[in-house]
Amino acid sequence: TEELLRKTEKLKVAGQLAAGIAHEIRNPLTALKGFAKLMCHANEESKQRYYQIMKEEFNRIELILGELLILAKPQVVDYRPYDTIAILNEVIELLNTQAIMNNVLIEIEFESGLPYVKCERNQLKQVFVNVIKNAIEAMPAGGSLQVSARMMTNGVAYVFVDQGLGISEERLPRIGEPFYTTKEKGTGLGLMVSFAIIDEHQGHIEYQSKVGVGTTVLIELPACS
Ligand code: ADP
Ligand code: MG
Repeated sequence: TEELLRKTEKLKVAGQLAAGIAHEIRNPLTALKGFAKLMCHANEESKQRYYQIMKEEFNRIELILGELLILAKPQVVDYRPYDTIAILNEVIELLNTQAIMNNVLIEIEFESGLPYVKCERNQLKQVFVNVIKNAIEAMPAGGSLQVSARMMTNGVAYVFVDQGLGISEERLPRIGEPFYTTKEKGTGLGLMVSFAIIDEHQGHIEYQSKVGVGTTVLIELPACS
């Protein structure tokens, strides 16, 4: 019965996800169809304008599919021991320009001699990207983002503390739900994908937040034995 329950639950989640995807992609598609029709009889000037709008809708579909593809199994599932601090540093370097442009200062504090973690490199990178991007986006007026890593008994703990808008108690349980977003241009897929990845890595991810104070994200991953 437990097996059956799990399967039923999985089917339910798959159904919800499929409905969400269909909905999110149908909207831009409907717009595209309308503009394609208008294009047929438009003059040069209008055509240019329609094309600009259509390009945005195409980009939207591409963005949604891109995030969903990360969730799909990577072409080569390659779990290997990695120095995750090197991965984290790479991500921070990658996002630092965006941080600076948003007046966000990223401060790091990594314990030395941390153990390696067995992981799918690109997937873990994606998790760090999602969490740090969200932190930057949560601080429209700037602020600091503290990123630290320390040893635990059986693994490594990564902590991200931002001074952003925060998440209210009612909204906190919705974090990671497919398509749940409070951003105008958000997809609401970043955390769903990240939670799934951490789960696959036998890890743990936790959100603590206070409106107007900020958000703390704790990620724990088991160390290589
Ligand atoms: P997206 O970034 O596209 O909205 P995510 O899955 O990455 O989708 O995040 C879902 C929602 O969770 C965000 O829209 C935001 O409301 C909330 N959220 C995530 N991280 C933070 C954070 N650090 N501070 C405040 N809100 C956050
Ligand atoms: Mg996000």
